[in-house]
Amino acid sequence: MPGATVPVGAVNSGKGPDGRLRVCVVGGSIAGCAAAIELQRAGCEVTIFERSAGSLKDRGAGIGIPFALLELLQARDLFDAEMAFVPIKLRDFFVRVRSEDRLLWQQGFVIAATSWDELYRNLRKRVDDDIYRQGSEVAAIETESGGALVELAGGQRRVFDLVVCADGYTSTGRRRLFAGEDLRYAGYVMWRGLIEEALLSSVEPYEGINIFAMSRLGHLIAYLVPGKQGETGPGERRLNWGWYLNTPQAELGAALTDRNGRKHATSLPAGSISEARVGRLRELARDFMPGFVSEAVELTEQPFIQAIFDLHTPSYRKGNILLLGDASSVARPHAAAGATKALYGAVALAQALKRQPSLESALTLWNEEQSREGERLVSLSKRLGEALQDPMQDWADMGEEEMSLWWKGVIGDEEWYVMTDDG
Ligand SMILES: Cc1cc2nc3c(=O)[nH]c(=O)nc-3n(C[C@H](O)[C@H](O)[C@H](O)COP(=O)(O)OP(=O)(O)OC[C@H]3O[C@@H](n4cnc5c(N)ncnc54)[C@H](O)[C@@H]3O)c2cc1C
Repeated sequence: MPGATVPVGAVNSGKGPDGRLRVCVVGGSIAGCAAAIELQRAGCEVTIFERSAGSLKDRGAGIGIPFALLELLQARDLFDAEMAFVPIKLRDFFVRVRSEDRLLWQQGFVIAATSWDELYRNLRKRVDDDIYRQGSEVAAIETESGGALVELAGGQRRVFDLVVCADGYTSTGRRRLFAGEDLRYAGYVMWRGLIEEALLSSVEPYEGINIFAMSRLGHLIAYLVPGKQGETGPGERRLNWGWYLNTPQAELGAALTDRNGRKHATSLPAGSISEARVGRLRELARDFMPGFVSEAVELTEQPFIQAIFDLHTPSYRKGNILLLGDASSVARPHAAAGATKALYGAVALAQALKRQPSLESALTLWNEEQSREGERLVSLSKRLGEALQDPMQDWADMGEEEMSLWWKGVIGDEEWYVMTDDG
């Protein structure tokens, strides 16, 4: 197993009988599994508490990650060498003007398009079943001198040297430790769908291309991702689409009300939306979206909805309790940054614990770097979202040059991730 060497550095500063750091990871999804694998390999004794009793699947549809991250995690054996992804090289911006679909701009955009289930499958199989405690909801976490106390919903209490809260955007850990920090609604929701490519009359517009269809209601993105079992051959993939629809705060409650009249806090799962609303979305797609995109919306039997939020927690640490992944900050999806940030954060934590002489110096360093990068990504994603969703922008008036200038104005000198595998 790569990295299974004699523990050194802060990894040896645990208070248990063998001196190894005893780590509790709260949440066993993307961030939690990645942290558990990395920390166990670094020499920590790890336990994961995951609330769900059943299998976690199909949580987030399509996910794009940078090639540098894909290669880093393959080299560190977090992902299989043959992990399934669809390579994307370009992004096409379209607009529909008086029933005609116009290509506004073709932008260089390189990303590996994969899916939540493929990421999870790769990570979960590397986590030992005996450290992954399903059906274990963490009810409370408290800092304790030199460690942290974790209480499960069933009442059991355990002390750890370090707790990593990877419990997602509604994080219990964050709410208890940083009570004032919560999700801020971004002003739009995303209707999403994932359909078999074989259903579409043509996938040509999507081959190697990330589609951005612009409209005054909000923009839609669509790209091919691997099939359910990781298939990447023509005819076997799926098309992932998401339409960000501007929805004032006053209408959010109605947008998140299911077919039975039940209000949900942040999302509506597939199959829970009334037929009338799905029908209305299809009508809007016919009116505002390029033909090949509205076909995908039309063919999606059970779209689902996710409200879009911003969240940045100024510190990702309180004592020996850390926030990782969406628990720490939520960037709007436009920078394709959420899973990427969680995965880099897990690797960086293991590296800090191995390299730093004390737990205090490792956590201080990790917190400074991760919270700085998190703040940058939340702000970049917000800027991108505001520009892409601007209802006053007349896309029909834009040409190649205007689009390129508009993009530079939004993104400035920002960069995506760069990281090497040197530890
Ligand atoms: C529309 C959309 C598109 C996206 N596209 C991209 C993209 O292209 N690229 C990208 O990098 N990212 C993308 N993301 C973000 C990405 O999906 C997340 O950032 C990523 O999955 C990280 O998740 P996580 O592991 O931190 O949290 P989650 O996946 O939310 O997992 C949290 C886990 O904690 C468990 N849990 C919660 N509370 C408790 C508790 N009290 N006790 C025990 N367990 C608990 C939950 O059951 C769950 O399993 C997108 C997100 C959205 C919404």
